[in-house]
Amino acid sequence: PCAELKLPANLAQLIEQSSGSGSGLPLMVQRTIAKQVEMERVIGKGRYGEVWLAKWRGEKVAAKIFFTIEEKSWIRETGVYQSVLMRHDNLLGFIAADIKGTGSWTQMLLITDYHEHGSLFDYLKTHTLNPDSLLLMAWSISRGLTHLHTEIYGVHGKPSIAHRDIKSKNILVKLNGECCIADFGLAVKFEANRNKIDLPGTEKSGTKRYMAPEILDGTMDIQNFDSHKMTDIYAFALVLWEMSSRCCFGCYEAIPYQIPFQDAVPSDPSFEEMRQVVCIEKVRPNIPPVWKTHEIMNIMMKTMQEMWHENPGVRLTALRIKKTLSRLKPSEDSVLNIMSD
Ligand code: ADP
Ligand code: MG
Ligand code: MG
Repeated sequence: PCAELKLPANLAQLIEQSSGSGSGLPLMVQRTIAKQVEMERVIGKGRYGEVWLAKWRGEKVAAKIFFTIEEKSWIRETGVYQSVLMRHDNLLGFIAADIKGTGSWTQMLLITDYHEHGSLFDYLKTHTLNPDSLLLMAWSISRGLTHLHTEIYGVHGKPSIAHRDIKSKNILVKLNGECCIADFGLAVKFEANRNKIDLPGTEKSGTKRYMAPEILDGTMDIQNFDSHKMTDIYAFALVLWEMSSRCCFGCYEAIPYQIPFQDAVPSDPSFEEMRQVVCIEKVRPNIPPVWKTHEIMNIMMKTMQEMWHENPGVRLTALRIKKTLSRLKPSEDSVLNIMSD
């Protein structure tokens, strides 16, 4: 049993105090927070466990509880969050991780910021966007992905990280209209000077519907780290399309939400079904001709087409996308109005 720690009454203060060290709160503090968290209700289910709305000293947080057999997923995800310099406006904010129990019973917890709009997937089903809100979301995701992909050198540097499961269910919508990237359960880290990728052994890889053609046809060089970044870009293209197809402009009404390849493959498609559509028939999501008539939509269209190219080597990088979208970004004033309707 460990002695009770004296902690500041709110999380912002707590995190502010320790973020100088670069990789979050000290482990003892994390364990204390995890012990004090009170579960309220389930807000999400994924492949690896359940996500709860929970409270820590009256503040809302999200608590992901991993299934007992998904220990590797918890280790990988917390390992990514504990890397230095992982705090970023467009990556889900990590608060604490804890594992407890013995023998056959273990509970693995991950506590993060809570975002009441939930996933981008859920948000797009019930909301439409306008070009400015689309741009802000797209830009913010490109910013998060750029930070993730970029290696920062030095003692307190950060490894380059590839997400490997980018999809609208793994992106959350924030109250300010930006998004943040979540679910690092399949992410891989890479440090150029170590020249080694920490690939998971037998664990499953990403979501079939969002798999890049080179994964589906087996031509990807999985030992080459950059090739993992390129598959993130392909998946991000599909997310851009999902957002863009919910965007209303002029007198153009958005179509109801559709998941990518909704009409091309059944729900829960097999690897082989995806390969047939993406690699052989070379199908990509449909782009309505009217997008060409609007400056922002036209750029979204061109950008996604360069991101889902079958040749991974010619896809845009996250940094390139961020720079392109930064130029179009609306002024701060109009941003404030985006979420008010
Ligand atoms: P898994 O690894 O099992 O897929 P995720 O981390 O992707 O778990 O979370 C599953 C779902 O829970 C998400 O798609 C989202 O709907 C919801 N969710 C996850 N984290 C949060 C959060 N911090 N705030 C609000 N909803 C969340
Ligand atoms: Mg997920
Ligand atoms: Mg996961």
